[in-house]
Amino acid sequence: MTSKEKIISFPHMGNYYIAIEFLIKHTLNMKILTPPPITKKTLELGSKYSPDFVCVPFKYNLGNYIEALEKGANFLVQAGGGCRFGYYGEIQEQILRDLGYDFEFISILNAEDMNPFSVYGIFKKLNQKLSFTKFTYYFALTLKIAEIIDKIEEYIRENIGFEVKEGSFEQLQKDFLNRLKTVKGFRDIDKIYKKYNILFRNIEINKPKNPIKVGVVGELYVVMEPFSNYFIEKELAKKGIQITRFITVTYLFKNHPKEKELIKFSGKYLKYAIGADGTDSVARTKQLAEAGYDGVIHVKPFGCTPEVNAMPMLQNISNDYKMPVLYFSFDSQTSETGIKTRLEAFYDMLLMKREKQKWKKVI
Ligand code: SF4
Repeated sequence: MTSKEKIISFPHMGNYYIAIEFLIKHTLNMKILTPPPITKKTLELGSKYSPDFVCVPFKYNLGNYIEALEKGANFLVQAGGGCRFGYYGEIQEQILRDLGYDFEFISILNAEDMNPFSVYGIFKKLNQKLSFTKFTYYFALTLKIAEIIDKIEEYIRENIGFEVKEGSFEQLQKDFLNRLKTVKGFRDIDKIYKKYNILFRNIEINKPKNPIKVGVVGELYVVMEPFSNYFIEKELAKKGIQITRFITVTYLFKNHPKEKELIKFSGKYLKYAIGADGTDSVARTKQLAEAGYDGVIHVKPFGCTPEVNAMPMLQNISNDYKMPVLYFSFDSQTSETGIKTRLEAFYDMLLMKREKQKWKKVI
């Protein structure tokens, strides 16, 4: 490592880069270099230098790192995970070193071990002058930023499919995210949330009383990073579908039920935890089936063992509740046209099911 000024970068996941930038800006004396937005090139770069069999979040992250290093980053951060993702940081570091990049690399803890004390320990090593009080203040603010992103995006998911003027939600979301980048303190965040909550609810929508409802479950990265799931939520919304998903940063850090509770809730479908988000996928699919959802879409990276384990249980739930489940497996070779065609067919099936139910009531 030769450069004196530390330029830090981290992988993308949805719009959470805003919260991460905020935390780094206020707690570390480093310049921030957020990787360029994910494109096909990011995935191509990541895939080119990744082992072929590795799951796709590894490839996206590696692509993000290469693009950031090329732009001048020299300090990279990776987070651990509850499955083999926990080992990915070391392999990614080695690959990047073999490619000849000069940088420092740090792996942050697993989400389960993530608490203000443990994260403070890591940040303190990077900035000796950082006090615990200052760190906890900005850490709490960071979580709050993620929380309001999640709240607003939840409203968008449920309503964007019914907007009267095309593009109004997306335009306002851009303004909202830009405004979030200027946050200074808690009051500011509350003000922004109140303002945009009203503005979003003022967008004219034409929503039927009982719209088609689809839940999205699966592995956290492909659920939360829209590029990696080929903007599935957007595609569904275009058809006038109300979308529900549980996995967000707030859910993972604040509201995630204990594994035991998820197993209990899964009832006869699951007796043991199946790792990462697999248990969650089963419990939530059952919840959506009981709530009368029209369908569920299960997304996973190709070869993701916890989600592969969840699939037979999802199929049992689907059979018992007569609720269709559509399975998507993503890799660098996934065809966008194939996804759109299958979504189209799924939507037609949901419509036909609704029609059938309507006629049953009449007869
Ligand atoms: S949960 Fe699945 S896709 Fe995600 S890192 Fe683990 S094995 Fe890979």
